[in-house]
Amino acid sequence: MVRDDSCIFCRISAGAAPCAKVHEDADTLTFLDIFPVAPGHTLIITKEHFTDIFAATPAALEAVARRASATALAIRAAMHPEGLGVFQLNGAAAGQTVFHYHMHLIPRRDGEAFVLHGRERADDEQLAILATRVAAALET
Ligand code: AMP
Ligand code: ZN
Repeated sequence: MVRDDSCIFCRISAGAAPCAKVHEDADTLTFLDIFPVAPGHTLIITKEHFTDIFAATPAALEAVARRASATALAIRAAMHPEGLGVFQLNGAAAGQTVFHYHMHLIPRRDGEAFVLHGRERADDEQLAILATRVAAALET
């Protein structure tokens, strides 16, 4: 499996950097974004290092898409948002800031302004509580 030690998501996937983990399988890791746009802002990443959709294999993209289904249902059950934004950015020109393939799932509420990135670093304890809540909803 290709890894890049200078990549923060590779370090998280290798267990060398912390995350508020929601789920893990052989091909993907799901955890909360530390600069959330909204509480429960979740990322699904490939375990292998692929820069973006252009570099990722169809199998890796499929593994992330497969997790999106269960994760979306769990976020809805845990956070009760009015909507859920699902997006994925490729290249700096598209707003990508971490160059390791990942998908965003963002709980949305009526009337909220839409932004791609949060401005404030979340509290780690709060992230851990929310990750546990979403993970528990995965199992129901
Ligand atoms: P993108 O702009 O699509 O590349 O999104 C990258 C996302 O990763 C941003 O929303 C960041 O807040 C988030 N992020 C960066 N570093 C970490 C980290 N160590 N743990 C969790 N999320 C992170
Ligand atoms: Zn990486």
